Amino acid sequence: MKFTVLGSGAVGGVPLYGCDCPACQRSRAVSSYIRRPASALIEHGNTRIALDAGLADFGTRFPSGSLDAVLLTHYHMDHVAGLFEIRWGKGASLAIHGPVDEHGCDDLHTHPGILDFSATLEAFQCFEISDIRITPLPLIHSRPTLGYFIEVDGARIAYLTDTVDLPAATLAFLQTHRPDLMLLDCSHPPSDTPRRNHNDLNLALSLHQKIAPLETWLTHISHDLDAWLMAHPEPLSRGVSIAQDGQVWRGLV
Ligand SMILES: [Zn+2]
Ligand SMILES: [Zn+2]
Ligand SMILES: [Zn+2]
Repeated sequence: MKFTVLGSGAVGGVPLYGCDCPACQRSRAVSSYIRRPASALIEHGNTRIALDAGLADFGTRFPSGSLDAVLLTHYHMDHVAGLFEIRWGKGASLAIHGPVDEHGCDDLHTHPGILDFSATLEAFQCFEISDIRITPLPLIHSRPTLGYFIEVDGARIAYLTDTVDLPAATLAFLQTHRPDLMLLDCSHPPSDTPRRNHNDLNLALSLHQKIAPLETWLTHISHDLDAWLMAHPEPLSRGVSIAQDGQVWRGLV
């Protein structure tokens, strides 16, 4: 089993267009600090599943037939942009699983091309793709959004972006089915004013405490949070780290 962070960035990414803050300057100088749209890939045996499709070069990275499915968290552009080009392609259809959202994104649903949106997911109703077991978990965001609890090869991964805090039922599920690896939205530096659509660092750390996974990787990171972390280099809580594009987790070893 191999889990790869394809992108760890908030909307706009890092570097942010036109920004000269320390984090954006650093990522222009050292490419490992670049943050692309938040997304990931799970591979096990011959099965490959993408989590979100916001990468501009999604179709180049995943040629026709190379993916079994895409799990969409929601229909904001930074999570679906890569689908707009490949939908006009030829060959096998690509199954797109995601939340029920009658508006979707632009005309994706009215002109799906080779994309197959026919599967409808229900919260907490698990399903399988090959031998990967997936449970959709409701999140709290500005439009219908699902996180995913993924059981593969004896490992448990929770993928939780975009969200601010968690619904009580999702939190209870995660406390019962404790993940080994949790990817958690943390777009903002610590803040005294409550955020509306994404976690700040304080909220993300408190969710890590409540759920107690073996490892938490914070994702959907903004340039503001990167700049704050550069000014506050002390380690985060035990078990918590900041995800990086290209980072790989290979399960419990
Ligand atoms: Zn997003
Ligand atoms: Zn910046
Ligand atoms: Zn969003």
